[in-house]
Order: sequence, then structure tokens, then C-alpha cells
Amino acid sequence: MEKLSNPQKTIEVIQKYQFDFQKKFGQNFLIDGRVLEKIMDAADITKEDFVLEIGPGIGTMTQYLAERAREVLAVEIDKNLIPILAETLSEYENVDILNADILKTDLNKIAEEKNGGHPIKVVANLPYYITTPIIMGLFESHVPVENVTVMVQKEVADRMQAGPGTKDYGALSLAVQYYAEPYIAANVPPNCFMPRPKVGSAVIRLTKHKTPPVQVKNEKLLFQLIRASFNQRRKTLQNGIKNFSGLNFSKEEVAEALEQMGVSPTIRGEALTLEQFAQLSNLLDG
Ligand code: SAM
Repeated sequence: MEKLSNPQKTIEVIQKYQFDFQKKFGQNFLIDGRVLEKIMDAADITKEDFVLEIGPGIGTMTQYLAERAREVLAVEIDKNLIPILAETLSEYENVDILNADILKTDLNKIAEEKNGGHPIKVVANLPYYITTPIIMGLFESHVPVENVTVMVQKEVADRMQAGPGTKDYGALSLAVQYYAEPYIAANVPPNCFMPRPKVGSAVIRLTKHKTPPVQVKNEKLLFQLIRASFNQRRKTLQNGIKNFSGLNFSKEEVAEALEQMGVSPTIRGEALTLEQFAQLSNLLDG
């Protein structure tokens, strides 16, 4: 079958099946072959790889993945897309489609069954309304992944990649960078999609760290401290932590830890590196 990655072919399929785009599912289909090639290159897909695709839509990216990977499993929530995918992917024997909600799918089980528990690659043009739960879910549930290469809202890609002291730096930057090394592979304008999204997009690759870049005694505390620090951006770190429910540290305890670290007691969270958050967490856990 002719590739779907152009506007004419996409319109043809949509009309044939009288498919209605569902806004609630974040449906913006890619219609640009060059962008798809860039995603494939960034993800570094080879014939050895098992690839999980999240939200195949009408199968535009799935066709590219099927040609490069050993095996592809595509998880799609919208049941109206299933008969379409059966047709658009009929030529490929290495593709399976699962009609399910990715957030309710046991991905550890899939990695075990399909790839013997070895690291998988995840590729997606993500539904933007659930970008963070999907990515953090993959990392926090310790699914074996080598890399995650995804189209996200441009602003979200910038936040994932941001470093301390920049306006985009926040809890998401730290959470992502604890697990992975981010790399923005391309910026993608709205006219590469049908329908056009209201926001700019970017392709980001997150290469999972083999071991975390910092050592903490208590991972849960590290993430609570990070959330507390960015919960009220204008507050100092001490006040942010003191007021955060679930944490039981006095202003004095935080001040003492900061002093031991050699940083100002009035510092704000946005100035601390991941290493410093780890140090703070280890001192408070002491
Ligand atoms: N991969 C296609 C492409 O690039 O043209 C479609 C991408 S579109 C941005 C997002 C896709 O994710 C849609 O097909 C949508 O139905 C699907 N989706 C939305 N929420 C989902 C969920 N919770 N689980 C699985 N798929 C979902």
C-alpha cells in the first residue's frame, strides 16, 4: 500500500471510513514523510528492536516502524480506528494492534512477553493531554526501556530538557532527567498534522540512564522535595518544603541541611541542580 504520510492519502482513508477526529483523544495525525524519517532516525530503530507505539491513529508512523523494526505493538484506545488499521497495516506481518488505554496497560508484562524482559523502544506521536502520565508512568513503573522518542508539545519538550536557573526548569525537568538523558531532535510546525494543533510540537528522545545520575537513599522523598520546591514558585525552598503536605520538616531543619550543603538559606528551588536535590534529600532523610 502507498504510504499514508501525505495529506491526500490521509484524506482518502478518513473519507473511506467516514472517520471523525476525536478531540478528547488528542488526534492530530502526521502527514509529513520528512518528519517521520526524522523520528525514525532519532529513535535509532533496527531490525533487532521490539517497538511499542502509543496511539497509532490510522497507522501512518506504524508503517515506518514496521519497515525498520523486528516487531511492533501499537496500542490504540479508539475502537473506530481498529478496522482502519487492519487495512492500512495489512501488508506487515510484524505488527500487532491492541485496542486499549495505554495508561491501563501492563507494559512490564508486554516487555516480558514480547522481548524477554530486554529493553524495548517506545515511539509515539503522543496524545498531548496525557504526555506526562505516559512518560512518567513508563519510568516510574520501571518498564525496561532503552529510549522513548516522542512528539510532544514544544513547550513540554523545552521543560523536559531545561537546566537550573532557566524559566522552563521545574519538577518535570528534574523528574525526566533523573531517569533519562533528553535530546530535542526536531521542532515540528502545526502544518505537519491533520487537523493542525494549536501549539508547536517537538520530537524529543529520552535515553534511559543505565544507573541514575544521583544516588538517593529515599527516592520518594527526593520527588516530594522536588514537587514541594516548585509548587509555589515564588517561595523560598524552606517555605515551600515547610508548607507541603506529606512532608514533616521544620524551616530550621531545612536551613541546617542547606547550610551543610553550602547554599544560601533563602535559595529558591529553581536554582538547585538534581545533584543538590539529591544531597538535600539524603541530609533530611539522615
Ligand atoms: N500515530 C498517529 C500519527 O502520528 O498520525 C496518531 C497520533 S495522535 C497525536 C494520538 C493517538 O493516540 C490517536 O490515535 C489517539 O486515538 C490515541 N490515544 C489517545 N489516548 C490514548 C490512550 N489513553 N491510549 C492509547 N491511545 C490513545
